[in-house]
Amino acid sequence: MHILVFSKKVFLIFSVVIFFVFCFLIFKYFSLAVTTSSNVNPLQEKLNSLFHSNQKVAYLTFDDGPTKKATHKILDILKKENVKASFFVIGKYVKNHPELVKRAYEEGHYIANHTYDHNNSKLYSNKNTFIDEIKNTDAEISKAIGVENYTARIFRFPNGYASSSKKYKYEKKLSVSYLDELGYSYIDWNCLNKDSEKKYTKEQLLSNLKSTCKNKDTLVVLMHDTTDVSDSSSVLEDSILFLKNSGYIFKNFYDL
Ligand SMILES: [Zn+2]
Repeated sequence: MHILVFSKKVFLIFSVVIFFVFCFLIFKYFSLAVTTSSNVNPLQEKLNSLFHSNQKVAYLTFDDGPTKKATHKILDILKKENVKASFFVIGKYVKNHPELVKRAYEEGHYIANHTYDHNNSKLYSNKNTFIDEIKNTDAEISKAIGVENYTARIFRFPNGYASSSKKYKYEKKLSVSYLDELGYSYIDWNCLNKDSEKKYTKEQLLSNLKSTCKNKDTLVVLMHDTTDVSDSSSVLEDSILFLKNSGYIFKNFYDL
């Protein structure tokens, strides 16, 4: 009898705890939905609309640099082909190679923000760290290009915002409101040559690009100005040629 009363009590306490946890999660979900859905800033609207545009425009984007091995080579090709691109730079690498960012900026490329350390566990540890990762990167860009208080205004989440991985999904949603406070917008991509996935040959990189841009009008192309996995600089000229022959014109985020 005693055992029965005891287990009834435990069951009751357990149910109450579950109920409160459930209410808390519902509250958290809705408060987040309200924060992230209201007042989308105009630049964010423009960036979102690129993926639904029916104009044949290609925005080439290079992440994770600058690096000695790839950035100069990529800039040489872009110059030769008269294409303006966008570079999502990592703060600590800007500090190491300010001259590469200065060159990219002076040649008309958009310098965007891709965190200081590219380290998700650090980036999402708390609000202040997230904000510092952005501000410290802007400060390095400022020093590199000689423009006081430079704010890149466009951010790309490491691994993308809409990544297939469930990891950091909640933290990313929350970070959108921090970006908003900083006057920042963010963008992913809709086309890629998979140069960061594994070691591909030139031909495979080009074929990846062709298959992921199929039936799309405006393209935001993800590549990397690094040589850690595959080397996009080796296929950049052919990629630009393919896109030009397919009727695309090139723009960068200054055009927004
Ligand atoms: Zn990255």
